[in-house]
Amino acid sequence: MPETTTPKRYWIWTVGCQMNKVDSDRVAETMQARGYLPAGSEEDADIVVLNSCAVRESAERRVSGKLGNLAELKRERPEMVLALTGCSVSPDFDATRKRFKGADIYFQPTRLDQFTEQLDQVWPAPTVPGILACWQEQSGVTQSTGPSAFVPISNGCDKFCTYCIVPYRRGREKSRPVYEIVDECGSLVKRGVKEITLLGQRVNAYGRDFKDGTDLADLLVLVHNIPGLVRLRFLTSYPKDMSDKLIDTIAMLDKVCEHIHLPVQSGSNQVLENMRRGYTREEYLELIGRIRRAAPAIAISTDIIVGFPGETEEQFQETLALMEEVRFSTVYQAAYSPRPGTLAYRWDDDVSRDVKKDRFKRLDLVQNRISLEQHQALKDATVEILVESEQNERKDAAQWRGRTRQNRLVFLERAEENLLGQTIQVRIEKVSPWAMQGTLEGALV
Ligand code: SAH
Ligand code: SF4
Repeated sequence: MPETTTPKRYWIWTVGCQMNKVDSDRVAETMQARGYLPAGSEEDADIVVLNSCAVRESAERRVSGKLGNLAELKRERPEMVLALTGCSVSPDFDATRKRFKGADIYFQPTRLDQFTEQLDQVWPAPTVPGILACWQEQSGVTQSTGPSAFVPISNGCDKFCTYCIVPYRRGREKSRPVYEIVDECGSLVKRGVKEITLLGQRVNAYGRDFKDGTDLADLLVLVHNIPGLVRLRFLTSYPKDMSDKLIDTIAMLDKVCEHIHLPVQSGSNQVLENMRRGYTREEYLELIGRIRRAAPAIAISTDIIVGFPGETEEQFQETLALMEEVRFSTVYQAAYSPRPGTLAYRWDDDVSRDVKKDRFKRLDLVQNRISLEQHQALKDATVEILVESEQNERKDAAQWRGRTRQNRLVFLERAEENLLGQTIQVRIEKVSPWAMQGTLEGALV
């Protein structure tokens, strides 16, 4: 009897940063190219891929928990294939297998070659040459479901900040070729994408490994020139790598939005040194000044770690004072979490859990007040937003969700027209520290 060829069903579970979400898109494309279809839930899937995050211990605990649940499901359905990827998978597969028991396939982030090699051993790749040839030609094309898309331009990190697991898991920094990125952005725009965010752990060090002088500023110009693209963003910038050429380019290109994500991590020179961030508080502030002189409307968001080993109350207060001075638009804060394998892991994690919690809360209060003041200043003003998604959950409330060029979140009342992907003018009526709400102003153009 001929074998039946019911398509395999896949399910992907993703935690962590934007980079992981993009990597999951790539994994989905790899499976689609093999003829697999998305499953309705993990229970119905033939293969479940867990895309993990290891940046903090709490994230890794979630991954272990999820893997445990799925391993139970697998006991009932032993034919189900479990794959683990993301930053929990280190190059030492044996160690990973011991730490995260129960998966059939382990592959490092972005290493689709490792994935397909192991997948071939479970279910041989389809032999229809067209499908694979098509995949190879298109490798790297991001799936996009809305008007905003994320495009990775580099992977890995060479910095080795003392607390960070990323360089150990994602490896050395490697930039994608310029033509590949521009091609990908071009095809996304043809498919209706209006806003592109270029991604990298140290996005502004893009191109350094080419050793031919190509940098992020050059890439921004090329992507900016794609007809039909409305907005261009990039994440995450490393303070030391913010060149004057890049700042001037950002100020000059009108599609580049007025927002830079520039993690400071701490306002204390001693803590910054212990983190091996490579800059001082004064150098960071001087950089903010340079950016704001070139592009006065720019919003700056940041990442801060509280409770780093040895952080005193005074040093924490230096961070609060820096926040008051810079007035960030958003702060993504985290309590320090020791990561095995990093340099800081060898140090005493001497700030107690309660003190970390207290500093976290105080930092939150300061930033909420600053964000609220910034939003209040926009009340009754008209801002431009790109509508990026529809809110389906509550029919009575806001229907559309978008962002200003400065990356501020705006919700919009119900509207007759389909606003998805439109750049519109909105009059701000209500504000909170996290978002603003308003109504459509004027006619659509
Ligand atoms: N490349 C970016 C950050 C990538 S990791 C940069 O240079 O800033 C994302 C954020 O997670 C970091 O900015 C940091 O605030 C946080 N983070 C990383 N390791 C951490 C740890 N061990 N404990 C707590 N927060 C951590
Ligand atoms: Fe981690 Fe530092 Fe690299 Fe950012 S720059 S990914 S914090 S090592």
